[in-house]
Amino acid sequence: MRIQILVVAVKTIHRTYRFELRPTQDQKVLLDKHFGCVRYVYNHFLNERKEQYQANKKSDNYYAQAKTLTELKKEDETIWLKEVNSQTLQFALRSLETAYLNFFAGNAKFPRFKSRKRKNSFTVPQHTKLIDGKVHVPKFKEGIQCIVHREVKGDVGKMTFSKTPTGKYFVSILTEEQYQPKEKTGAVCGIDLGLKDFAITSDGIKFKNNRYTKKYESDLAKAQKHFSRKTKGSNSFERQKRKVARIHEKIANTRQDVLHKVSYQLVSEYDVIALENLPVKGMMSNRKLSKHIADASWGTFVRLLEYKADWNDKQVVKINRFYPSSKTCHVCGWKNQDLNLSVREWTCRNGHPLYRDENAAKNILNEGLKIISSGTGDYTGGDSNQTSFQKHRSVKPEAHLSIANG
Ligand SMILES: [Zn+2]
Repeated sequence: MRIQILVVAVKTIHRTYRFELRPTQDQKVLLDKHFGCVRYVYNHFLNERKEQYQANKKSDNYYAQAKTLTELKKEDETIWLKEVNSQTLQFALRSLETAYLNFFAGNAKFPRFKSRKRKNSFTVPQHTKLIDGKVHVPKFKEGIQCIVHREVKGDVGKMTFSKTPTGKYFVSILTEEQYQPKEKTGAVCGIDLGLKDFAITSDGIKFKNNRYTKKYESDLAKAQKHFSRKTKGSNSFERQKRKVARIHEKIANTRQDVLHKVSYQLVSEYDVIALENLPVKGMMSNRKLSKHIADASWGTFVRLLEYKADWNDKQVVKINRFYPSSKTCHVCGWKNQDLNLSVREWTCRNGHPLYRDENAAKNILNEGLKIISSGTGDYTGGDSNQTSFQKHRSVKPEAHLSIANG
């Protein structure tokens, strides 16, 4: 007799924790200096590369530019660059190098200059610590007060500091952790983005939207309407602009909460999760704003689901967004070409009673399983994405939306 031992091996994973900071007035000044210097270095060397390329059809790489940066710090005009952490400035050069490599690999647009409005962030690649609710990095010896609302597991690595349009400061902390993946359940599911609820599974489980989201959405619509009437540059223009930004933040936060909970639950309960790569159906309402928010959160949701699946050796299968999952009967495959958006329940030609969202989720699951069995899928899971801690260090700050939650 053979005994099967079901032990899931511990694996190394990376999480990003995002916490709000409570810097002192002096620390705010120094943080702002870092944002400014990083922007200066990035833009200066992007410009240098552009000019060199125009003149000689080639430009300096990271190593050559790092040497130039050292020279720059000795010059009177730019001696203030010495006031900030030198590794942070080098990291900005590395980001520029990465942006170039991504561009030449065809994965990204040509790098753009960073503006104060769009970009206030910098990264400390090394010598970072989190002790007693304070983050310690070079140039901030006394530590910056940090609202640690969740236990940080594993070793602390790279930290990225940012400032929101409403003037709040945040830190994203990358960690490396020994993680015990969840056990296999043998269950599979398809997910459909609901109109009323956030999502519905092929098992008929509904995930509700955060109850505040609707309220904030209508607040946002009102605030944006007021904003559009203000004269550009006036005091009330700036005030209203901050108000709009604050509501955006609230929506993002409440959404993020729901997305984390739903993705955590799904990955715990299912081994295979099928979904559309971007839902288009059911989004034809004239509320453009709500469509925009739904699209954005769907993208975030898929990302959260993918990395959680990856940690737990589970699979996420994405199906083509143009697959007619609502119109097709999941039992017999008959297509209802006239299915109206408002119809929640219908019966197919062969008499199969169908609930709109659940039927769609079942079709998505069937399509997902077909993709897996044919081996042609665009799916993630298992041991893909095994990046090293070091390699992870070059992840763009934008990637830090992925606040770890489970
Ligand atoms: Zn049918």
